[in-house]
Amino acid sequence: MQINVSQLLKEPIGATRDYKLSEIVDITGDGRLVQGEVKLLRTHRGILVRGALHTEVELTCSRCLTPFNFPVTLNINEEYIPTVDVVSGVPLSSPEEPGPFIIDEHHVIDLTEAIRQYSLLVIPMKPLCREDCAGLCPNCGHNLNQGPCGCLQQGVDPRWSELSKLL
Ligand SMILES: [Zn+2]
Ligand SMILES: [Zn+2]
Repeated sequence: MQINVSQLLKEPIGATRDYKLSEIVDITGDGRLVQGEVKLLRTHRGILVRGALHTEVELTCSRCLTPFNFPVTLNINEEYIPTVDVVSGVPLSSPEEPGPFIIDEHHVIDLTEAIRQYSLLVIPMKPLCREDCAGLCPNCGHNLNQGPCGCLQQGVDPRWSELSKLL
C-alpha cells in the first residue's frame, strides 16, 4: 500500500492531502482487503500519516481452535522521514531514531509495514471466535459449538472424566 508524496514534500509545513485507500495487503502471510482514509500532513521532519484503516485478520480461537476472521480498525499515526532531499535528490543523513517508517528514495510511503505492526497490536492475547464460544469437550475433543458430544449423552460430565479415571 504505497503513496507517492513527492508533491506534498515540496509544499510548506502544514499542507495536507487526503487519501481514500482500498487495497489488498499481505498482513500475516495472506492478502487482506484494507480500506479506509488517511490524512497526510507535511511536518518539519517529513510526513505525518494519520487515519483509520479497516481490515480483517485470521485468528485461531483459543477455546475451540477454529480459524475465524477478526475485524480490526487500525488507528495509524506515524511520521515518515525522507531519506533523500525531494528537490536536489541528495541523500539525507539518517534520522536519529531509525525505524521502518521512512520515505524511500522515490518519495514513496509504504504503509504495509505500519499496517502489519498495528494489526499485531490489536490482536487479542486469547482470541475467541465468539464471546460465548463453548470450546472443545475436554474428554473427546468434540467442538461443542456444533452441539453436544457423546460424552454428555452418556451422562458423563466431561469435567469429571479425568478425575474419575484417577479414582
Ligand atoms: Zn471458539
Ligand atoms: Zn465429549
